[in-house]
Amino acid sequence: MTNDCLFCRIVAGEIPATVVHETDETLAFRDIGPKAPVHVLVIPKVHHTDVSELAVADPGLAGKVLAACAAVAAGEGLGEGGFRVIFNSGPHSGQEVFHVHAHVLGGKPLGPMVS
Ligand code: 5GP
Ligand code: ZN
Repeated sequence: MTNDCLFCRIVAGEIPATVVHETDETLAFRDIGPKAPVHVLVIPKVHHTDVSELAVADPGLAGKVLAACAAVAAGEGLGEGGFRVIFNSGPHSGQEVFHVHAHVLGGKPLGPMVS
């Protein structure tokens, strides 16, 4: 728990969120500003800054975050249409919250990736 981290505070129940999936080690909740009909954020409950740091510190947990993304997509009915998973990391990515999170996006054709 990092006191000044928004997503640690969501894990602690101090800030409300619409939770759609939870395991012992991961939490998934709807993005407050959805960019697609389905836009869910998947996080490890313990604090890691970004995907690079998580992958080195705890690759098993990184795998569990990805498994949670797949479970969210299935639970949201994205099996047929498919979905996109994005980790923003570092200044060029536009990462704004420095608790690693996967964006799970779907529910419509998403178009090409940005270059
Ligand atoms: P980033 O740009 O860091 O990859 O994405 C951060 C995401 O967190 C954004 O899509 C933003 O809409 C979302 N977000 C920011 N504050 C909150 C919040 O208080 N609750 C929820 N559910 N999402 C948030
Ligand atoms: Zn945190």
